[in-house]
Amino acid sequence: HPDSIQHIERSRKYEPLSMRGMPPIVWDRAEDIFVYDKYGNRWLDWSSGVLVTNCGHGVPEVRQAIIDQVNSGLIHNYVFPSEERPELCELIASVSPEPLKKVFLLSTGSEATECAIKLSRAHGIAVGGREKIGIIGFERGYHGRTLASQQAGGMAGQKTWIVNMDPAIINVPFPDGYWDENSSFDGFLEAVEESGMKPSQIAGVIMESYQGVGPDFAPVEYIEKLRAWCTEHDVVLTFDEVQSGFGRTGKFWAFEHYGVVPDLICCGKGISSSLPLAAVIGRQDIMDQFPPGSMTSTHSGNPVCCAAALANIRKLLDEDLTGNAARLGPVLLKACQEIQAKHPEVIGNVTGAGLVAGLQTVKRGTKQPDHDLAHRVIELCYQKGLLFFAPVGAWGQTVKICPPLTIPLEALQEGIAVLEEAFDEAVA
Ligand code: PMP
Repeated sequence: HPDSIQHIERSRKYEPLSMRGMPPIVWDRAEDIFVYDKYGNRWLDWSSGVLVTNCGHGVPEVRQAIIDQVNSGLIHNYVFPSEERPELCELIASVSPEPLKKVFLLSTGSEATECAIKLSRAHGIAVGGREKIGIIGFERGYHGRTLASQQAGGMAGQKTWIVNMDPAIINVPFPDGYWDENSSFDGFLEAVEESGMKPSQIAGVIMESYQGVGPDFAPVEYIEKLRAWCTEHDVVLTFDEVQSGFGRTGKFWAFEHYGVVPDLICCGKGISSSLPLAAVIGRQDIMDQFPPGSMTSTHSGNPVCCAAALANIRKLLDEDLTGNAARLGPVLLKACQEIQAKHPEVIGNVTGAGLVAGLQTVKRGTKQPDHDLAHRVIELCYQKGLLFFAPVGAWGQTVKICPPLTIPLEALQEGIAVLEEAFDEAVA
């Protein structure tokens, strides 16, 4: 809407260049699966506010929990415990597999992955000496924007502006089977060998349970072998569930698709559907390495954030929203495959699980990513009332679908029809 331009101009004036590139839509309010501006427009939201609002936008139970907590007068505490923090930790532990029963609360996903890297290194040094500090991440992976988390991530573009100053953090190919056709575990072993580090020098492996850029999943056999390799060499295996956790893929944790258990889980985003909260969940011996007072954060476990997360997770469990994602997942994936079948020359790859799916665009008949096409499709959808975030992917080639897990079948089908129309128009 033209009147929204003034807000966008103001944001451009006062915010850094990096904040540009966002969709030209100024949100006014949001409710469940819909987002509204001030000018009478409504969009069906297929972004979940960047995969945060798993229980929907403005969830009444979450809002009430926030209001009640605010009204109690206790809106910050840290060094003195209050009820909400242990209550939330207990709930998170109860939905996490054995032996991952220790929970450290933080505010952002990046803090959680940074913390996991630090815990992995401390464990490595404890069991293998000062040489055991290597961290392995994956190409095209994303773990956040703090220094170590960004280096462990594998976005090629980001590597050019943060020089990899930590030579013990390396990336190996992600076995997605499309961009990297070799998806056998041998590829991992070869890449580690090429890095010059021996397994005895590696402290941790950090991996998104699905890579956000796809979503791309690794073969089960690969992950089974990775788990065994980590155990054999006493390497801490972290699954980054910041985006994939809390029901998104039709399992509570996306790593459940692989049938293995990591040593650490990082989570955030969908944990609260609202306020900033994140957590590292892990094995006691890894989590308890640092003495009292040495692993802290001022806003860790803020009572208002905890209250929001408690209400959110309870709703997710009570209404079995993970089950809804599991039921609708095959419908969504099949529909995306049908759109691909109509445009096989320009949609190279379609992937998904539960209520996350991606259509990866390529230049006609090639395997070269096509950012412009993804962008055109998404812009057309904006005009038709369907909201995505800007194209994602290592090369900005992906139209990514991730509605709130509360979406009913009919709304999903409506959105699919709009997306199909947009592809038809953009390709024509
Ligand atoms: N890990 C993954 C897999 C993510 O998707 C994100 C956020 N996109 C992060 C970590 C970082 O989380 P935050 O932006 O809250 O720091």
